[in-house]
Order: sequence, then structure tokens, then C-alpha cells
Amino acid sequence: ADDVALDPWGSSSVSDYRKLFEEFGIEEFDEILEEVPNPHYLMRRGVIFGHRDYRPVAEALQNDEPAAVLSGFMPTGDPHIGHKLVFDEIIWHQQQGADAYALIADLEANSARGMSWAEIDDHARDYLLSLLALGFDPEEGELYRQSTNRELQDLAFELGADANFSEFQAIYGFDGETDVSHMQSVVTQMADILYPQLEEPKPTVIPVGPDQDPHVRLARDLAERMRFFKVSEAYASFELEPEERALVAEFYADLEPADFDDDQLRCVHVAEAIEETPLSELAVDADTLSSVLTKLEEAGMEPIRPRTRFFDRRATDEAFDALIDAVEGEKRVYENHVDAFDLDRAAAEELAREVEVDNGGYGFQPPSSIYHRFMTGLTGGKMSSSIPASHISLLDDPEDGYDKVKAATTGGRETAEEQREKGGKADECPVYELYAYLLSGDDDEFAKRVYDECVDGERLCGDCKEQAAQLMKEFLEDHQEKREEVEGLLEDADIELES
Ligand code: SF4
Repeated sequence: ADDVALDPWGSSSVSDYRKLFEEFGIEEFDEILEEVPNPHYLMRRGVIFGHRDYRPVAEALQNDEPAAVLSGFMPTGDPHIGHKLVFDEIIWHQQQGADAYALIADLEANSARGMSWAEIDDHARDYLLSLLALGFDPEEGELYRQSTNRELQDLAFELGADANFSEFQAIYGFDGETDVSHMQSVVTQMADILYPQLEEPKPTVIPVGPDQDPHVRLARDLAERMRFFKVSEAYASFELEPEERALVAEFYADLEPADFDDDQLRCVHVAEAIEETPLSELAVDADTLSSVLTKLEEAGMEPIRPRTRFFDRRATDEAFDALIDAVEGEKRVYENHVDAFDLDRAAAEELAREVEVDNGGYGFQPPSSIYHRFMTGLTGGKMSSSIPASHISLLDDPEDGYDKVKAATTGGRETAEEQREKGGKADECPVYELYAYLLSGDDDEFAKRVYDECVDGERLCGDCKEQAAQLMKEFLEDHQEKREEVEGLLEDADIELES
């Protein structure tokens, strides 16, 4: 029951969500729920239970600023009601104004699961039709498959240069037997995750199940690395005149950063721009800085190592501009040297991004993620694509869907009498999950009524399942009708499918 191993390709089940918070640093979604505009019912009902760094995305949505959502589907079988959670999450973000991306992880299906291309194409089509039927807008959003997206492949190649085998070993348990395509599919996935930021860095959320968290962590790591340009190891060869150095040193020698007034805050440490002088000990005002930079320029833009502390964004715009000019061609601001004060960090990061963007770099923001609970299988245990009775496929005949719900295990008591007396165990009931995750739609009151009636003993499983089965049948009928209606949309969408 302690199984919280997170293996993106295994059959990991998560039996204790609390451990995810403690061991993997996933944060509780509840804590930021209030900051989310019009939260989706999956958020309100705790189905989306965790996140990594979702706040920037929530803020962007709140303020109508650019944001993106991306998730991928490995087309290894029929899309089922568990996948619908992710479809809903993508679509909701799109409706809140985010740029939405849905991708078919065909390389991964081929390399990690050994699927043939023909099978992949069939399933891919089914996933996409369901996504469109549920409301994804292909004109506003982007659909792609990994194997035919050239830009993605280029990005994956670059990311590959920043990752190495030992890392994959540590994160995924790869060993000497792991084939190269599998590794390649990992860098491709990293590229997927960062793809929405190719043109412009923006808060991006990846809605996934918790088993995909290793990918998110690695992508966040790589985003940090790719954020900065590689710098030559060369040291500064520029020299200030000794008198100038002394002057600068003297001017600021007795000042603590806290003593700086706004003007004096026009200062930036340009450590080691002055040879051998650890300017982390000094502060330089804008004028001095620009004199330093002029000299740098005259010296033919020799590499500087801007071991720079930015004290106050408001006060140092000029200095920033000068620095941006200066590092053009040099291309790196060491974030880890921006260690002065917490309050300056955001400004420094923003600058770092500007510098990179100006220089043609990526400036990726570490991607955020949200995590949803796995649905319990209708037969108890895990909902699995390989056990038909455990799940309801979005392609199931509505009558079969009805029958599966009727045959589902419940959290009911042995006898009706006992149920009336003690109430049912809605928290352990796969049928209740169907109500909460899907059948109640946006209607919180309905979901709550089912719950309350169950635990109060007013609801008995027979009737409850009949109602759920009926709703499931209607949902499937409706969904499949919509799938037919959107076939044209899929034809028009810019994605290549053989079948
Ligand atoms: Fe589950 Fe409904 Fe029975 Fe309650 S009454 S245990 S929700 S099937």
C-alpha cells in the first residue's frame, strides 16, 4: 500500500496521495484554488489534487496574460473516461484563454510500447475525435504528432545536448539495455513540454497523472538549463585603471545594500568585469557601470562574467539595458549569482529572460503541472485499458456502458437494512467516482446530493447504479454523436493521419 513509485511507463498506482506531497514536493491544489478564475469542477471537487508551481498560470489566466496548456496522449488503446479528465483540463484552460496544445505521442508509443504505426494512427484518430467532440477548438489550439513536427525534433535535439545518460538512469532507471529510441522519446517529450514556449516564454501547465511527474521534473530542470546561454569559460580580460577600481571600491566600501537610496540603488555588482576584483564585494552605479561597459566594448567585447547582483529592478532599468547590450554575444547571466535578496530574484529572472530572448535564446519558464487522481476501476483496483470491464471506453456501445456501470462494485453495505442504518461508503465507491468525475458535469449540488444521500443511508446501491448507468448511456450516446459531427474538423486540422 506504500506504492508511490512514479514510473511513467509502468503500471504505477498511487495509493497514498499524501506521500506525493511529502516525498516529491507536489503541492496541494486546494491551497491555490481561490486564485484560479472559474475553477473547473475537477478542481473544485479535489479530483485535481496537486500541482507544481501552478500559480504563474493561474495569475496569467486571471490577468488575461499569455499562458499555455499542453498534454500528450500515447495512443496505445481506446480513449476511455480516465483520459477524458485530461481532455477536460486542456479544454478548460483553452476556454480560459490559454494557448492549447494536444499532441499524439507516437514516437513514445512506438519506442516505449512497441506499437506499430498503423495501430498508432487508428488510435490517434480516436483520441483526437474525442478531444474535439468534448470542445477543443482546433482553430485556436494546435494539434500535432511528435514524429512529423520538425520544430519539435530540432528542439529535442538541442535538449539532448543538455541531458545525459546518468541523469536518465537516475530518473527513469534506464540501464545498459535501454534502447536509444527510448531515450530519444524522452528528449522528445521534454521538447513537447517546452514547445508552447518556443516563440515566447510563458507560464505553461501540463495536466497529467502523478505517474508522469518524473517527466515534469526533468523538463523543469532542463528549462532552467536552457534558459541561459552557454558561456565560454574565458575569464574577463578587461581591466579598469587601478585608480578607477579604487574609486569604485572607496565609494561603496561602507555601504550596506540596505542603506542605498533609490538613486544609489542604480547599482549593479559587475563582479569580475574588473579583472581579479570580486565585485560581489562592490557595488557600481549606473554611470560607473556604463563606463565599465564602454571600456569593455572598446576592448572588443571580451567575455565578461557578469556575476551580477540586481538590487532593484525599478532603479536599475538603465543598468539593465546597458548590461543587456554588453552581454550580447556573450550570452549569459548567471542566475546563481543573483543571490542578493529574495525580492530581487523575480526581477533578475525577468532580466535573464530578456537577455536570452534578445540574444535569440529560449528564456523558458519552468513548466507547471497539475495532477489528477486516477479513476478507480469499475471492478475495483486500477482502471486499466487492458481490462475492458474496469473502464468505459469513450467508444463503448452505450448499452455496454450501461451494463458495465450496472455490474460495477460499490461502496455499499451487505444488506439494504445495514445501508439504511450506517450509510454507504461513497469515498470508496467507483460508482460515486463516476458521479463526481463525470456524470454530474458542472453541477456540484447534484454531486453533493448523491454523496450526502449515500452516506446518510437514504440512497441504495441498486437505484444509484441504475441512475448512473442511465446517465452514462446518455453521455456515451451524446459523445459519440458529437464525434461524428467533428470528423470534418479533424480533416481540416493540420495533423497528418494515415487512416
Ligand atoms: Fe456507491 Fe451509490 Fe451505493 Fe453509495 S449508494 S455506495 S454512491 S453505489
